[in-house]
Amino acid sequence: MDGLFLENQTWPKVEEYLKKSNMILIPIGSIENEGKHLPLGLDTHVSMYLCEAISRKTGCMVGPCLPLGYSKWFMDFPGTISLENNTLTTLIREYCECLYQHGFRNFIFINPHMGNGNAIADIGRDFRRKNCLVSMIDIWRTFEKIAKGIKLTEKSDLSHAGEIGTSIALALYPEYVEMQHAQKTETSSPLSSNIKHINTVGFSDFKGNNIWTYLQANEVTETGSIGNPVIASKEKGKILLEKMVVFLEEVIKELREVK
Ligand SMILES: [Zn+2]
Repeated sequence: MDGLFLENQTWPKVEEYLKKSNMILIPIGSIENEGKHLPLGLDTHVSMYLCEAISRKTGCMVGPCLPLGYSKWFMDFPGTISLENNTLTTLIREYCECLYQHGFRNFIFINPHMGNGNAIADIGRDFRRKNCLVSMIDIWRTFEKIAKGIKLTEKSDLSHAGEIGTSIALALYPEYVEMQHAQKTETSSPLSSNIKHINTVGFSDFKGNNIWTYLQANEVTETGSIGNPVIASKEKGKILLEKMVVFLEEVIKELREVK
C-alpha cells in the first residue's frame, strides 16, 4: 500500500513524523450485511481506500484500520460481526490513548458506518479536555450530499447498499459485486402503517415528524439493503470517489490549521 500507514513505518519514522505533525487519520468500518449483492466488508474497504488516497495526497499518517464496528441490528444477516457499543468505545479509547502518549493530538476518523458514531463522539468529547481535536467524517452521508449536489443519483438519502454504495463498490472492486442479486428495496412498516422506517438504525417517520423505533434490520428490509442498487454504475462510483477525495483533502487542510 502506498499511503503513509503507521504499521508500515519504523518507530524512528513515526518520531520524525511527529516533529512535523500531530495529525492522524483513522479508518474505521464494519462487517455487516450490505444487501444480497455486496460484500460484508464494504464499509471497512471504503474507509481504507479513502485513507490511502488522502494520505498519498496530503502526507497525513494513517493509523491501523478498525475493521469491526457496532452493527447489532444486522445480526440476523449471516456473517455480520458486531462489537458491543461499550467494547467499541473502549477499543477506540485505548487506541487513541496510545497515540496520545506518543504525541498525536488531531484525530480524524474516516467513518462509513453510522453505528460507530456514538463511540467516536464519546471519545471526542473526553479528548477535547486533553487539548485534542477528534473529528469524524460520516462518509455515506457525505457521498449522498455530493451526489445530490451534482444530481448524479436518484434520491438516496439514508440508503444502505443502494445506488451510491453499490456504485462505489463497482468502482472499487467489481469482482465482489453480484449485480444479479441486486434489487430495489423499500423499507417496510412492520409496526403500523403510520410509522415508516426510513433506515435500519431506527430513524422513522410518523405523520411527517421523526421518531426512533429500534427494530432488527430484517424487520424493515428483507434484502438488508435500502434504495435502488439496480441503477448503480462504476462510472457514478468513480465520480463520487474523486469528489470525495477532493473534499477530504480540503477538510484535512482546514483541520491542520485549527488550534
Ligand atoms: Zn454500515
